Amino acid sequence: MSRRIKEETNTMSTTPSDLPAAEGGQPILKDTPPKLARWGEAELSNLSSMVEQSSLFYWNGPQTEALLEAFRKHYPLKYCAPCSSGTAALHMAVSSLEIAPGDEVIMGPITDMGSMIGVLYQQGVPVFADLEPHTYNVDPADVRRKITDKTRAIMPIHLAGNPCRMDELMAIAKEHDLAVIEDCAQTWGALSQGRPVGTIGTLGCYSFNDFKHVSCGDGGMVATNDEKIGPSLQKWGDKNYDRVSGDRMPSTLAPNYRISEPESAVAAAQLGKLKHICDRRHAVGTLITQGINDAPGVIAPEVVDGDWATYWFYMMRIEPDRLKVDRETFVAALKAEGLNANSGYIPAPVYKYPVFANHAFFGGGWPIQEFGLTNMDYTKVSCPVAEEILDTCLIIPVNEAMSDEYGEKCGQAIRRVAEYYAR
Ligand SMILES: *Cc1c(COP(=O)(O)O)cnc(C)c1O
Repeated sequence: MSRRIKEETNTMSTTPSDLPAAEGGQPILKDTPPKLARWGEAELSNLSSMVEQSSLFYWNGPQTEALLEAFRKHYPLKYCAPCSSGTAALHMAVSSLEIAPGDEVIMGPITDMGSMIGVLYQQGVPVFADLEPHTYNVDPADVRRKITDKTRAIMPIHLAGNPCRMDELMAIAKEHDLAVIEDCAQTWGALSQGRPVGTIGTLGCYSFNDFKHVSCGDGGMVATNDEKIGPSLQKWGDKNYDRVSGDRMPSTLAPNYRISEPESAVAAAQLGKLKHICDRRHAVGTLITQGINDAPGVIAPEVVDGDWATYWFYMMRIEPDRLKVDRETFVAALKAEGLNANSGYIPAPVYKYPVFANHAFFGGGWPIQEFGLTNMDYTKVSCPVAEEILDTCLIIPVNEAMSDEYGEKCGQAIRRVAEYYAR
């Protein structure tokens, strides 16, 4: 009965101007997103001085020194190793902990391949813990359940600009004597209880790939305050050559993951803009959440109380039972409003990717499994919350060129579509 009254009221009060654009109304976001200019004077100035140099090698290179200085302004860590990608940074972190064949690293299953690559190349075992339904970050209670006597580290992956529950994760790590590798590739500038992400765990890993908040095309950084692993961090991305002592007698195997001066020049300039970039992204994401918070059939992302998110993109969920249309129709209606929304994120939790499902890591097989160093069977892994997130999420692009007004209108557009299609 009450629902019927609501429907009648809706019909009566719906004038053509209230209708979603998909149903004949005027689009709320008439202008396409403001044009983003990512590179400018600062990058050009560093590159101009770079071409005067006689060498583009990273070690003691002026551009790489400038990058380190700029990085430490945001992340005051003692040992920082610039490198060629976020994947490289994570691999160097895993190597520096001397993860051994069969050792386990616990992480969430919605991420980039870069989170797992280093663990697998060191013959470690990524162990997937489920996520929380609304932060989309790893659930500390499930991390605890996944601990075995082979667990060596936890890898909190701060998804889409939103910090993980670091207090809980650090407490678990302390209790079980585990290292913590923070994957900050999507979360430049975010704060967990006032602390920059990447400075809380044992190591912080960052990416400068083209899609991240700040970029130099491709590049990365791994950093730590740990006195045991810090001094050798650089060697893990430089063929195990020790640039400090000049020692060229490698004691172990390490790839070449070096950055070079052109990337450092651009990355250093980018970090000068990091605060502005993150302030804008935080403001726009927060305005979208405020705009949709009590709208029917949609759920805004949850940020842990006291944390500060920097929205690499804005990920939200629909409640299919509370909407009359499916996700594709909902997204099409957002597009009609002028909002460039996308249905879903990655196609499946990573454990369903063929490389995991077939255990096809090295020459089509997985030596540590064949030699009995792990019992992991990825075909048996199930993280139901992560799967539900991927089935019901939408992604709204966010960038630093967007004004507060644009953020407010994104919220209005989502709310209008949600209210119209609410059951
Ligand atoms: C981008 C990304 C990486 C890898 O960074 P690259 O620089 O592309 O190697 C790792 N983890 C996450 C969560 C990412 O989003």
